[in-house]
Amino acid sequence: MANIPTLTLNDGHRIPQLGLGVWQTPAEQTARVVATAFELGYRHIDTATIYGNEAGVGQAVKASGLARRELFITTKLWNDDQGYDAALKALDASLAQLQLDYVDLYLIHWPRPGRGLFVDSWKALVQAQKDGKVRSIGVSNFRAQDIDRIVEASGVTPAVNQIELHPLLQQSELRAYGSAHGIVTESWSPLAQGGELLADPLLREIASRHGKSSAQVILRWHVQLGLVVFPKSVTPARIAENMAIFDFELDPAEMAAIATLDAGKRLGPDPATLD
Ligand code: NAD
Repeated sequence: MANIPTLTLNDGHRIPQLGLGVWQTPAEQTARVVATAFELGYRHIDTATIYGNEAGVGQAVKASGLARRELFITTKLWNDDQGYDAALKALDASLAQLQLDYVDLYLIHWPRPGRGLFVDSWKALVQAQKDGKVRSIGVSNFRAQDIDRIVEASGVTPAVNQIELHPLLQQSELRAYGSAHGIVTESWSPLAQGGELLADPLLREIASRHGKSSAQVILRWHVQLGLVVFPKSVTPARIAENMAIFDFELDPAEMAAIATLDAGKRLGPDPATLD
């Protein structure tokens, strides 16, 4: 898979550590954007039912001529489809949109703990994996206590937990929990949505030292922490830029300096209260 490193999940499957996220990529642009990413060497796409662009991802996969086994496609179960039967039905609908026989990774998008349905949803994902409709199963926006509950109920540990994670919200506790339980942590909004963080003087200084951009330094920081990232962009130059992070290394002092940027600052909803 080009020069993108992979991590081995707890079920033995491998995941490319860098992919392309397509949240807020308009449906009519998605096939073109994903095709651009494939041409540049990306092989991992992170979509979700709620993004409304699974069909565009599927079109790009089909048009790429790439072997299915070379690609890593993730989609997610939307909140309204939680519950055992509803989850299985939703996965079938996603596969139809994607024109795929299986997805590489299927995630419960949010736990919505107040609804009390995520354990049943998880059991459906376990069944779907047995049925061959999904290679790896995982969760998103789960707290440690939510993961404990699904493992207790099913005996199956999720392969990944996809959570908001960037230099302003470094999630050290959930990262440590993941490492201790063999769960890969995926960082959503890895660039903090491209906001003011990119202008941070410390990141700019580190970037100029390496002849890189702040975005590249941030993505490199994620990768060196052992995280999986899929920055979103629809701009070909940025899609290329975000991939050019495997030819330099941040030294321990630079990693420690970036650690000081943690501000516990969430950009998205708090999973504990999103119902
Ligand atoms: P991100 O941190 O990837 O930021 C994307 C924005 O940063 C872009 O819109 C663009 O404005 C800017 N950008 C991208 N590359 C840049 C570059 N090289 N230089 C300067 N600016 C650049 O934010 P995101 O889209 O929120 O997150 C990435 C992906 O994570 C999503 O597309 C989606 O796949 C996933 N996600 C998942 C959840 C979840 O609940 N599981 C929530 C949000 C996002």
